[in-house]
Amino acid sequence: MLDFVQLEEDLDQEERMIRDTAREFVDEHVKPDIGDHFENGTFPKELIPKMGELGFYAPNLEGYGSPNVSETAYGLLMQELEAGDSGLRSMASVQGALVMYPIHAYGSEEQKEEWLPAMGRGEAIGCFGLTEPEHGSNPSAMETYAERDGDGYVLHGSKTWITNSPIADVAIVWARDRSAEDDSVRGFLVETDRDGITTNKITEKLSLRASITGEIGLNGVHVPEENVLPGVSGMKGPLSCLTQARYGIAWGAVGAARDCFEEARQYAIDRDQFGGPIGRFQLQQRKLAEMGTQITLAQLLAHRLAELKERGEMRPQHVSMSKRNNVRTARNQARIAREMLGGNGITTDYSPMRHMANMETVYTYEGTHDIHTLVLGEEFTGLQAYQ
Ligand code: FAD
Repeated sequence: MLDFVQLEEDLDQEERMIRDTAREFVDEHVKPDIGDHFENGTFPKELIPKMGELGFYAPNLEGYGSPNVSETAYGLLMQELEAGDSGLRSMASVQGALVMYPIHAYGSEEQKEEWLPAMGRGEAIGCFGLTEPEHGSNPSAMETYAERDGDGYVLHGSKTWITNSPIADVAIVWARDRSAEDDSVRGFLVETDRDGITTNKITEKLSLRASITGEIGLNGVHVPEENVLPGVSGMKGPLSCLTQARYGIAWGAVGAARDCFEEARQYAIDRDQFGGPIGRFQLQQRKLAEMGTQITLAQLLAHRLAELKERGEMRPQHVSMSKRNNVRTARNQARIAREMLGGNGITTDYSPMRHMANMETVYTYEGTHDIHTLVLGEEFTGLQAYQ
């Protein structure tokens, strides 16, 4: 596996073990069928509890069954899962960083006890409802709202592009609280069997096909007061979750890119044209040289980001640069790898075109490439260019 600047040497035993466990899991349980799942637009749901058993959901959290592993270990886990498929890493990211993290950070003791151990084991599935049909890059303009209703709230609105909503047991719905003076955004834990909620599946996807995506319709859904996340109000709530998930994406994208590189390298050695392996041609070597370099740079950024996170010094802007750069790298390198595989490269028998298609989603969700560009633009000039 590509590790040109010997980053592996700095890993401790636990980090190696977690990486190896995830790599073996992907080799044994994901790689054999993932092409079929991608073609059929299905997610290998039977792996959800298995992933829980192996500790793949939010192992970087502390308590409630989570072992509090290092941020590097968590990153390596995301990297190996995404080397399998971005759909798999999305499952772990949503469950861990977007649902378990906010419950852990902002939830009541009862909410933590009810959801964290069950979600950690993969027995309960969560989803994160922020994006709306009319508000994607600017979620602070959300229209979904909550109104006081007896002992709780009633929710109205709709969310879309929600990973796992059709199979989720609970959704974290971000909505404006109309009973608050400032209309602040609050997080509501909404069980999906409540009256008035619908979670239709989105079926027309050409990217991230091995992942279930849906809508959340909220038509007067009553939730009790104790379903509100008590510890946060305002956009800080959802944005802080996104920082956690984007951290995982910055690592995960490296895994997808590395898988493309390894597939292309092997193909270049195995495939003969004009009387010998195509890997002997300088044009192909140049592609591998560039791919190997870009992936190594992305690995370095991910490892440094982990150090900053571990020290409590990681800022959202660091994450923006890393997500932006590493996903762009994966998107570009997947295309080059696909090219090196010739006609075979356009099939699901090989991974690069699947990763390439997936990267269109990864480039877009969790803050589009453009939005992260503007975050960095603001960081470097002090001037905001969003509006
Ligand atoms: P828009 O915001 O409409 O953007 C369209 C284009 O305009 C983009 O290229 C964008 O970069 C550009 N643009 C927008 N504003 C600016 C600006 N100020 N300056 C320059 N350019 C700009 N959301 C969730 O809440 N939960 C999930 O689990 C989830 N899962 C997803 C799964 C998939 C498969 C997909 C595709 C999306 C998912 N999303 C999820 C939604 C995702 O986060 C949004 O698609 C994303 O934030 C972009 O929003 P949008 O699609 O509305 O695009």
